[in-house]
Amino acid sequence: RAKGAFHDHPTVTKLLVVLSVSGGGVAAFSDARPFQFGYADAAHDVKKKKVVVLGTGWAGTSFLKSLKDPSYDVHVISPRNYFAFTPLLPSVTNGTVEARSIVEPIRSIVRKKKFDVHFKEAECYKIDTVNKKVCCRSTQENNLGGSEEFTVDYDYLVIAMGARANTFNTPGVVEYAHFLKEVEDAQRIRRTVIDCFERASLPTVSEEEKKRILHFVVVGGGPTGVEFAAELHDFVNEDLAKLYPALKQHVKITLLEAADHILNMFDKRITEFAEEKFQRDGIDVKTGSMVVKVSDKEISTKERSSGKTVEIPFGMVVWSTGIGTRPVIMDFMKQIGQTNRRVLATDEWLRVEGCDSIYALGDCATINQRKVMEDIAAIFSKADENNSGTLKVDDFKGVIKDIAERYPQVQIHLKKNQLRNFLQLLKSKDGEDELNIEKFKQALAEVDKQMKSLPPTAQVASQQGVYLADCFNRMDICEKYPEGPIRFRAAGRHRFRPFRYKHFGQFAPLGGEQAAAQLPGDWVSIGHSTQWLWYSVYASKLVSWRTRLLVISDWGRRFIFGRDSSRI
Ligand code: FAD
Repeated sequence: RAKGAFHDHPTVTKLLVVLSVSGGGVAAFSDARPFQFGYADAAHDVKKKKVVVLGTGWAGTSFLKSLKDPSYDVHVISPRNYFAFTPLLPSVTNGTVEARSIVEPIRSIVRKKKFDVHFKEAECYKIDTVNKKVCCRSTQENNLGGSEEFTVDYDYLVIAMGARANTFNTPGVVEYAHFLKEVEDAQRIRRTVIDCFERASLPTVSEEEKKRILHFVVVGGGPTGVEFAAELHDFVNEDLAKLYPALKQHVKITLLEAADHILNMFDKRITEFAEEKFQRDGIDVKTGSMVVKVSDKEISTKERSSGKTVEIPFGMVVWSTGIGTRPVIMDFMKQIGQTNRRVLATDEWLRVEGCDSIYALGDCATINQRKVMEDIAAIFSKADENNSGTLKVDDFKGVIKDIAERYPQVQIHLKKNQLRNFLQLLKSKDGEDELNIEKFKQALAEVDKQMKSLPPTAQVASQQGVYLADCFNRMDICEKYPEGPIRFRAAGRHRFRPFRYKHFGQFAPLGGEQAAAQLPGDWVSIGHSTQWLWYSVYASKLVSWRTRLLVISDWGRRFIFGRDSSRI
């Protein structure tokens, strides 16, 4: 700005012009300086491309952390000014870990960047693709009791707004159940558990009422629901039972799951171990039980086995049945014609389908599998140059290899179902070594049906953030030299390699210092040693040394002094 001001000054400009037309030694100076000034200003005038990032969760933060190219003008908008390490949220619900230990201020994350990143604590309520701007409102009230509204225009928009808890429109859930999605939810659950114990201790409360107040119901047998039930069981048995000995006999934990088993996305061995352990611990696991209504004191379930509706009195309900779409995303999907979908559809370069310069990652988006399958079929047909309808097995294997390289989801699926069986399925009647394309397409449709989109996990979200930042870092170079196999670089393709997810396995903490892990290659590990693996993995994954030290000291404090049951 200083150089610009100097150059803009009329006297200085005139002086430079005079110097530039005079000769001799001055000419040497004049040749260089006016040009240099002009060049500097031109560089200054090149408008930086404005990147607007919506959300500071796993996807948004990993994008920001990995973005290194200073040639962007980066603006971040999120209703929370911190990043939360969600895998430790269940530990916050009982005080094993303090809430502040798992959050990192977004401003201290972006402060480490070598270029300016502007943060606004606000929520985006509308995306205007026509005028390339987002409409936002501040999360804080102004003097008049309303909230400030403003718009931010963009050249590139990165949508990383995550998802909200899914209630399946079950009546009463929003009003009477607790979600476990945000840090505030975990803090609220912690206070409610202590509240229940204090209320049940009052002399006016009947035995029947004590039983109701101390009945904790968890809805959803996925990893979060199971981990929460296990953490609650440990809290009650290791800490609260000592502090409220008279109440121990009244405490009950029930886990409701609509499917036949809990943790059904895990290996069967893990599911069985978890169910047996919960049975031993006295956690009542009710499978085939679908919640139809929640009221202030009762939860109604429809039992699949009997078809009957059962009323269960409770003191606290925690609802953990998966994720749903945020209203702003639904509105955006309507705007761009993606109405019949659950989440935003993107291509494999994370570009929102039907939009220009808009990317979506994390829980709010998914790669459109149908399109992927069509692409695969097209690639396959292309390989059959003579249009014979068949392919040699070896050629087919080559095609499959290309497809698998490009589409990791297919690779995972093919591995699971064994490539050999898949090939068997495709063998034409005529010759053992030839494959029928029609059969391939039918099998493809089958794979399509079975193939699941990427799971909504922190692992996927953070890898997508890193991938997209890497694309942004190399935008110019890849414009000139597009990457990836040549056959995928046809018109309309992106200049980068498509996103590839690398699965590092998943954990299910089961309480009592035991955990289960399903690692790549379907390798399963269960028990106390796995819990120590869990401690080390999560300590290493925390975003900063500050949070790492805080969490480790919280774990140490819990081992030595137990959990704190103060209601603050
Ligand atoms: P989020 O991390 O949810 O971030 C969304 C961001 O968008 C937030 O900053 C939010 O404030 C912001 N936002 C919301 N609305 C707006 C708006 N209108 N405008 C602007 N910004 C907005 N995954 C694992 O891989 N392993 C685990 O062990 C694991 N454990 C979990 C435990 C719990 C209790 C929970 C709830 C989730 C867990 N997950 C785990 C899943 C993981 O947290 C999510 O998949 C991940 O957070 C998704 O990242 P995201 O960036 O898409 O969304």
